[in-house]
Amino acid sequence: MSDIRSFYPNAEQGEDYTVQCIEKLRSDFEFDFERTILATSVCSDEIIRSATNFRDHVALGTPFQLGGLSGFPFTGETGFKAFAGHIPDDGFAIILYGPHIGISNSDQPGMVIRSGQMLESTCCGALMGVVNSFENDKMHEFDEEYDYQQWKITEQLYSSRNDIIKNNQPLIAATDKMFERIDHRIKALLDKTRDHFKEKTIALVGGIIVNTDHGSPDWFEEREFEVHSF
Ligand SMILES: [Zn+2]
Repeated sequence: MSDIRSFYPNAEQGEDYTVQCIEKLRSDFEFDFERTILATSVCSDEIIRSATNFRDHVALGTPFQLGGLSGFPFTGETGFKAFAGHIPDDGFAIILYGPHIGISNSDQPGMVIRSGQMLESTCCGALMGVVNSFENDKMHEFDEEYDYQQWKITEQLYSSRNDIIKNNQPLIAATDKMFERIDHRIKALLDKTRDHFKEKTIALVGGIIVNTDHGSPDWFEEREFEVHSF
């Protein structure tokens, strides 16, 4: 069993976190989960599906997917406007967002053993690719046309490359920086599209998703919790 809190001191098991968050939204913000839709801005990696279980608590639990590689909200203004148009009348939405990182039972940040596999593989592979490109000075190897999302997340972290590669845990540093970029972009997109969210209440739930070896619970470290009524 890996020691998640040695890397993420405020992390909680994903299911425990979800229940606490749902309870807080119900009691403090009067969320009606029969009139609530879920959106995510998380990495494309299928391993993330198990990290939290918000989908089990809300009426419209199949999430609108705002994100792409590493959790950056690639669907942009068009995605936010479309999502806004799907919220139940006078209803509520939860936007769950953030990057993810694997921590294997061998306490290796950036690695997990996946279902059906014997050996550890990288997680988040996209962010690991960014770190490797910074370490090897190969930032320009990603093709803007045919590898757009990887190119874009590399561009987003480029100004932080020295802080990342000098850190003794470069992937953890890159994950922290990526959270800041995602958080900033989600808030900017919400602000740009705010007219589409009239009469709606939106919870922003941001953090680091910590994936573990297949069969072990996943974790979540909350970095942002805000509720906006428009
Ligand atoms: Zn990923």
